[in-house]
Amino acid sequence: MSEKKSKGQELLEQLAYKKRNYYEIADEAERNEIFRYAEGYKAFLDAAKTEREVCDFAVNEAKKNGFTEYRFGDPLKAGDKKYFVNRGKSVVVFRVGTKNIEEDGMRIIASHIDAPRIDIKQNPLYEDSGMAFFKTHYYGGIKKYQWTAIPLALHGVIMLKNGEKVSVRVGEDPKDPVFYINDLLPHLGGEQMSGAASKLIEGEQLNVVVGGLPYDDKEVSDKIKLGVLSVLHETYGVSEEDLLSAELSAVPAYGARDIGFDRALIGAYGHDDRVCAYPALTAVVGNNTEHTVLAMLVDKEEIGSEGTTGIQCKIYEDLMEEISLALGANFRKVRAASKCLSSDVTAAYDPNFANVYEKMNAALLSCGTAMCKFTGARGKSGSNDANAEFIGEVRRMFAENDVVWQTAELGKVDIGGGGTVAKFVAQLNIDTVDLGVPVISMHAPWELVSKADVYSNYKAFLAFMK
Ligand code: MN
Ligand code: MN
Repeated sequence: MSEKKSKGQELLEQLAYKKRNYYEIADEAERNEIFRYAEGYKAFLDAAKTEREVCDFAVNEAKKNGFTEYRFGDPLKAGDKKYFVNRGKSVVVFRVGTKNIEEDGMRIIASHIDAPRIDIKQNPLYEDSGMAFFKTHYYGGIKKYQWTAIPLALHGVIMLKNGEKVSVRVGEDPKDPVFYINDLLPHLGGEQMSGAASKLIEGEQLNVVVGGLPYDDKEVSDKIKLGVLSVLHETYGVSEEDLLSAELSAVPAYGARDIGFDRALIGAYGHDDRVCAYPALTAVVGNNTEHTVLAMLVDKEEIGSEGTTGIQCKIYEDLMEEISLALGANFRKVRAASKCLSSDVTAAYDPNFANVYEKMNAALLSCGTAMCKFTGARGKSGSNDANAEFIGEVRRMFAENDVVWQTAELGKVDIGGGGTVAKFVAQLNIDTVDLGVPVISMHAPWELVSKADVYSNYKAFLAFMK
């Protein structure tokens, strides 16, 4: 079958860059690995739908692998395996390497574990016209109409007056009830459908149906509300006032599933950014390295990395400084020698919406984890814009370890934009570049990724740690 290649063909192969589909490159053994790894990822997605649950999952995985809790001031030595929990909502899992940390720095993989969702308001419960509802306030950048008419689960905590914390997780077990946001029937939706999609459902219409059974007592009004309160009291021992100090979120009740006859793809809630958090966690927990490596799983990226659990909080810098101190190292030197992969998803090119992408520089599904030199909007505003020198270094790491990867830009210039945690890590004088899995339908209640890209992301982290 081997025909002799023409001179031009040979030159083309030698000189031209071509993005390639990872599934095409992978041999059978590697394809099996891609599919095997996806099973663990799907189980993780179903177990952990909120930042608190991801945090718990990560701590459990770390403990199973011999990691122990770290607190500020604890001594550290080479070979130590530690996890550091911030308020139950973010966690840093780390290994202390044998290399001199002042010269070698830290290898940081930073991803976020919060996802867009529908948060319940502090005084949420009311009834109207045969239904009881929770008032909500959405979290993160969502298309509000996508969250109507789908099964929702409720996750979170309720803090009681006595300081006790009650956990809530309803709608995940097939026997559980689920919750619901109403949409308008098309028969009466003429006016709704003729307006802007951003106004199809308004924020104050995102009310979650939580009940419909009137409490059996002629003497009281708001019987359905009372019925719901009585169930909440029986189940959780809470009263309406306790909801004032609750943190409850409605998330899609769907589980993660394979998509396609060939099962190449995965549909799930919250790929953004658990599709980077899971590889970061499994890479650091399951693999030894000479470097000091940190998997930072942080909260609040979807609302600007704010608050005590977002990456802008000083606690993460404090942790790095504490690690440096415990190892007798100069923190400034450690930072200067450190490197970071800011690991967040990017938009996968979607042929159904081709006009918003620039295909040459968009991430293509199944072509591997995607590196974004810069994010931001307009003239790269708000972007980290990594140095070519650092990208070159990371590129070498990937080449030496057969990582299939690609470069990416979120969309066409001036169409929109986005940003993530990279710029906040870079502020610490740490070389940082964005790297993550391409996603279709990002921020929808159910997003799509390729199993090949998930595994490529994991392999990229292993190469970065090596
Ligand atoms: Mn993200
Ligand atoms: Mn996002």
